[in-house]
Amino acid sequence: MTELPFRRLLLVHAHPDDESINNGATMARYAAEGVHVTLVTCTLGERGEVIPPELAHLTGAALGEHRLRELTAAMGELGVTDFRLLGGAGRYGDSGMMGLADNDDPGCFWQADVDEAAARLVEVIREVRPQVLVTYDPDGGYGHPDHIQTHRVATRAAELAAAEGRPIAKVYWNRVPRATAEKAFAGLREDLPRTPFDRAAGLDDVPGVVDDERVTTEIDGTAYAAAKAAAMRAHATQITVAEPYFALSNGLAQPVLTTEHYELVDGGSGRVRETDLFDGMEEGS
Ligand SMILES: [Zn+2]
Repeated sequence: MTELPFRRLLLVHAHPDDESINNGATMARYAAEGVHVTLVTCTLGERGEVIPPELAHLTGAALGEHRLRELTAAMGELGVTDFRLLGGAGRYGDSGMMGLADNDDPGCFWQADVDEAAARLVEVIREVRPQVLVTYDPDGGYGHPDHIQTHRVATRAAELAAAEGRPIAKVYWNRVPRATAEKAFAGLREDLPRTPFDRAAGLDDVPGVVDDERVTTEIDGTAYAAAKAAAMRAHATQITVAEPYFALSNGLAQPVLTTEHYELVDGGSGRVRETDLFDGMEEGS
């Protein structure tokens, strides 16, 4: 492999579309700044609900293939060239929402052996040697089995990599500060009559909302708002975008957040409110 740039960022997500919703502005910004951005997505999301009626015929493997094409288009919008499916496309099945019989499917990601799946992620870490890892909190942000399992696998992979002498300097969880979310939702409720959406989501519908004190890092992706919206729009089976708002299959409007937030959970200097995931790292260090 050709020599990688000094700064290398790894993001681990559950389904195609999670990366654009959570980190689209961050990914676009770092890619534009010459950082090597690697996305690992754990499943193809083939149990996702399809929004557009003209695509409603897509289910199972056909939906998975379609969502891989959507992911490819979204990465084009964000300028990210290194994106992979954990273990190869289709290795781990979508587990469906928590509590469904789908969770018991032996091929689904929820049933995967964490160490085995983490070993596959370690292969990527050996190749890319990221200094920064971004993933979900232990609840997966909102309790979806694939998101919880993504947290477990990413965390285990970081441990295994450290044990073989390849520690990842900083580990972050995706977050939305409560005050930021409240402000954005207040604006949304005012604008709602001027949007194509009938109802607004609530704070409970947003993954990863926490009290502001827990948020350590704020990435201003305002300049990449259009790229983020375009990437989200590329996931047309899952997301309806009407900037600066969007809705998932439940039809409830949410703000597209272009300043993205993180909680540093491992490594770093402990400085309050960093504005760079690579804060504290200098070339040659
Ligand atoms: Zn997801």
